[in-house]
Amino acid sequence: MPGGRGFSTVGGVPPRPPDATHVERLSEVGRYALGVLWGDKHDSILPYRHLRLSCPCEACAAAAPTAPAPDAERPVKLELLGGRSVFIAWADGHETILLLDELRDLCRCARCAGEPDYPVSGR
Ligand SMILES: [Zn+2]
Ligand SMILES: [Zn+2]
Repeated sequence: MPGGRGFSTVGGVPPRPPDATHVERLSEVGRYALGVLWGDKHDSILPYRHLRLSCPCEACAAAAPTAPAPDAERPVKLELLGGRSVFIAWADGHETILLLDELRDLCRCARCAGEPDYPVSGR
């Protein structure tokens, strides 16, 4: 349904299929990471610290990218917003909204990082 075809991609990166930014399932991986099953059956494991450091809000953009305090990387609430973005409320009171496209960009698995020879499952 979206008509977002007006944007040209930068750097010749092919546009993702819609399934690649559709979330099938969010899950908790251990106590430190978010597991995302994407519509194209890709599996991402995104450490909460990584998500927090990737918060696109002005306050975070202005802050130095240091390791966050424990509360700052512990989500108390996590939900999908309209299938377009994900909302995360952190234990320190901060809130992060990431577009699913941005979330997918954070995947550092071997496939996404372009290292096909690297084993895909971290552990
Ligand atoms: Zn922020
Ligand atoms: Zn990946």
